[in-house]
Amino acid sequence: MRIKIGRHFWEIVTVKELPENDGETRFNSGALVPRQIALCETDEEMRYTLFHELIHAASFDERLGLTEKQVLGLERWFKKFEKNHDLSELLDAYGELPHKKNKQESTKKCT
Ligand SMILES: [Zn+2]
Repeated sequence: MRIKIGRHFWEIVTVKELPENDGETRFNSGALVPRQIALCETDEEMRYTLFHELIHAASFDERLGLTEKQVLGLERWFKKFEKNHDLSELLDAYGELPHKKNKQESTKKCT
């Protein structure tokens, strides 16, 4: 899967194995090659590993310099959060995403 965040593309790939972790964020792909997030296909918590790697991506993009400990803390917090809440539903309750809003507006125009 390829996703766009800001002006950069990130490619999310699954791999058979990674040497040290369940996930890996690869920044040094060069300008024309998308940045990459690799996830180990045997990881039972791939959802949270992806979230973890996205935090690394955010830290890189926004030059936050988050440490591994800080990223792990945010991942742990998100796991706790998700036990009782759906993040997208909660956020939508206080304002929809621009692309969702536009869809509704274009539907309205047709009626
Ligand atoms: Zn990490």
